[in-house]
Amino acid sequence: MQIDKIRSDFPELDQKVNGNPLVYFDNAATGLKPRQVIESISNYYTGYNSNVHRAGHTMSALATKAYENARQKVADYLKATSPEEIIFTRGATESINLLASIFENSILKNGDEIVLTQMEHHSNLVPWVALKNKLNLNIKVIDIDEKGRLLIDNIDDLWSEKTKVLSIAHSSNVLGTVNPVKEIIASAKKRGITTVVDGAQAIVHTTVDVVDLDCDFYCFSGHKLYAPMGIGVLYGKKHLLETLPAYHKGGGMIDKVTFDHVTYNVLPYKYEAGTVNVAGAIGLGEAIGYISSLGLEDIFNYEKDLLNYATKKINEIDGIKIFGNAEEKDPIISFVIEGVHNYDLGAILDQFGIAMRVGHHCTQPLMKKIGE
Ligand code: PMP
Repeated sequence: MQIDKIRSDFPELDQKVNGNPLVYFDNAATGLKPRQVIESISNYYTGYNSNVHRAGHTMSALATKAYENARQKVADYLKATSPEEIIFTRGATESINLLASIFENSILKNGDEIVLTQMEHHSNLVPWVALKNKLNLNIKVIDIDEKGRLLIDNIDDLWSEKTKVLSIAHSSNVLGTVNPVKEIIASAKKRGITTVVDGAQAIVHTTVDVVDLDCDFYCFSGHKLYAPMGIGVLYGKKHLLETLPAYHKGGGMIDKVTFDHVTYNVLPYKYEAGTVNVAGAIGLGEAIGYISSLGLEDIFNYEKDLLNYATKKINEIDGIKIFGNAEEKDPIISFVIEGVHNYDLGAILDQFGIAMRVGHHCTQPLMKKIGE
């Protein structure tokens, strides 16, 4: 890979922090943005800023075309059957909140069960806990072993008559573990369980084929994938999105409106109420184009080399413990240093221009499990 050329595409790297060249290790919190993405947003705001799907003028037509073009790029990236299955949201968090909201009293009724895993991000946990408390649901948790792998040897025995939803991370933002989601989904499908995959971390490190996975829903945020913040995706199978209730209500998502009755728009607009994030979607489409032009396999292989190199070097240091040693692992390293508080470590590294995430990584139940 032409690393120097790629580095030069990321303007934020071209600076010193506290007197040292910036070393950005906080990609699991958000990725840096390449110039191409920044320019696509700037071009929209300087050239054809306009609302979409609403007006007949040229600017609106240009904006609508760019917005829908971005949707097509996402659909192609996920290998979805149709762009109608791609809903733009604010991010993975909103996508999961959307699902928790529309599942209430449709897919999930009082006393039903949801299956999650021990390694879920709060985004794929808190919306379900809130719903659990409303509908008196049971939450079953798939545990992990000492390497950070899911304990799924007896996966077919996991489900009960009451299990209606499985919602799991494709990969962990803390342990890096890549979960065998296809296998877990296949088992859940035999019981007619609705399946949701949180791809917020995995989308950055692997190609995703939603048809091959056979998941009902897949979500991710744009900002880790070098796109702007505030844009994300919910993929859903068409027949489910068509039959499930609407989420936010307002302009754009309607067909006919009176003071007594409302009918909803077709997909994907049914789930995109109000003025949408046009610039964000354009930026996301551009980010997908950018990484595709570099060669996805080349990126992922290079990341693997970096992971192996860093793991080896860290393991040579006494007193450091890495969490997450699964064979199938995304390039994420979480560790503790004996006797050093994580805040102190973060502050010291910052003095060297090194940006690193410290703390609970939005996964308190996982931290409790691994004893940190
Ligand atoms: N799930 C996982 C696995 C994540 O890593 C993240 C972000 N760190 C999220 C969900 C939430 O994403 P966002 O904050 O962009 O909505």
